[in-house]
Amino acid sequence: MAQREWVEKDFYKELGVSSDASQDEIKRAARKILAENHPDRNPGNNAAEEKYKAASEAKDVLSDPAKRKEYDETRRLFAGGGGFGRRFGAPGGAGQGGNFGGFSGDGADFDLGDLFNAAGQSGGANIGDLFGGLFGRGSQPRPSRPRRGKDLETETELDFLEAAKGVAMPLRLTSPAPCTNCHGSGARPGTSPKVCPGCNGSGVINRNQGAFGFSEPCAECRGSGSIIEHPCDECKGSGQTTRTRTINVRIPPGVEDGQRIRLAGQGEAGLRGAPSGDLYVTVHVRPDKVFSRNGDDLTLTIPVSFTELALGTTLSVPTLDGKVGVRVPKGTADGRILRVRGRGVPKRSGGSGDLLVTVKVAVPSNLEGDALEAMQAYAAAEKASGFDPRAGWAGNRM
Ligand SMILES: [Zn+2]
Ligand SMILES: [Zn+2]
Repeated sequence: MAQREWVEKDFYKELGVSSDASQDEIKRAARKILAENHPDRNPGNNAAEEKYKAASEAKDVLSDPAKRKEYDETRRLFAGGGGFGRRFGAPGGAGQGGNFGGFSGDGADFDLGDLFNAAGQSGGANIGDLFGGLFGRGSQPRPSRPRRGKDLETETELDFLEAAKGVAMPLRLTSPAPCTNCHGSGARPGTSPKVCPGCNGSGVINRNQGAFGFSEPCAECRGSGSIIEHPCDECKGSGQTTRTRTINVRIPPGVEDGQRIRLAGQGEAGLRGAPSGDLYVTVHVRPDKVFSRNGDDLTLTIPVSFTELALGTTLSVPTLDGKVGVRVPKGTADGRILRVRGRGVPKRSGGSGDLLVTVKVAVPSNLEGDALEAMQAYAAAEKASGFDPRAGWAGNRM
C-alpha cells in the first residue's frame, strides 16, 4: 500500500540529508549514493541493490519540489497520530460502528488501514485529493488493488435462553495492529530504525567457505535488517500493539453449543472501500436449570404427583416465551412425553421445533395425618379394585 509506505518511509534519512536540505543538496547526496550502490559496480550485492532502489525512490520524490511538498505534508499529518482524528473527524455514515471501532475512541487505537479506508469513505476531500496526487505522480505507480478486510475469529459464552432465542450483544475483539505511537516502525517517534551495519540492511550474512557459499540470518539485527536504538515506549520496539474494539453483533436464534457462526462483514475493515472481512464466532452455551435441547425441540422434565397423573390435570409449563397450559389426561403414565407443537427452538428455515414435556412423579418423603390416612385407605381400595401394577410384568420368571 503505497500511501502507507510513504508515511513510514523517511526519504531524507535514506539520502542522509536534513529535512530542510536544498534541492541541490538533495540531488548531490542522491547522485553519490546511487553511484556507490549502482548494480553495475556491485554485482550480486543485495544490500547495495536495496539501497539503490530506496535511494532512487527517495530522489524521485524529493527532487521534485511539488512531490516533495506533498510528501512533507503527508508525513506532517500522520506524525501526530490522534491529530488526524481531530482534523478530519470521524467518518460519517460509516454504517456498522464496528468496522471503524478504532475511530470512535480517543484516537489512540486506530490503525492505518482503518484510517485510509475511513478517509476514502467519509468523503474527506483533503486526504483523498492528497493521495490522488501522490498516486498520479508517484515514482512507482502501483495499481491500487482494493484489499478485502481480514476475517476475524472470536468466542463467546451465551445463556441457554440467549442462544435459543437469539441475542444482540456487544462483543470485544482483540487483534494485533500497527502501534499508533510509532506507526509500526518500533522506533520512538522522532527517531528512526538504523540500517543494520552488520548486514547493510539485507538481514542476511553471506559467507563463502571454499567452494560453498551460504547465507544466514544476520545475528546483529536478527534478520530484520534494521536496528532500533530507541525503542518506542508503547510497543517496546515490536511495532505492534493489541487493538481492542467493541462491536454490536446479532446472534441468530437457535445456535447450539460449540457452533461457529459467520457474521458477514463484521471482520476487519477493507482497505480503500474494499469489503470488510467476516467475523466467525464460536458459541459456548451455558446449560439451563430447566430447559435442554434435542435439535430444534426444547425439552424439560416436570415433577408431578401420582394423583395428578391418575386423575388428570392441566400443568403450567414454562416456554421460551411465557407459560403454556399442558393438559395431562387422566391415567397418564409416569415418564410420558407430552408434545406442544411449535413452542420449541426457532429454526433457520422458519417456524420452530416442539416443546417436549416429560412428566416425572414426585413421591412425598413423609406422609402424615389426613394424607397418610387417606393414602392407607386408598391402598386398600386399590387392592380391592383388582389393580396390580406388576400383573404379567415378569412373565413366567415369578
Ligand atoms: Zn510503537
Ligand atoms: Zn543485520
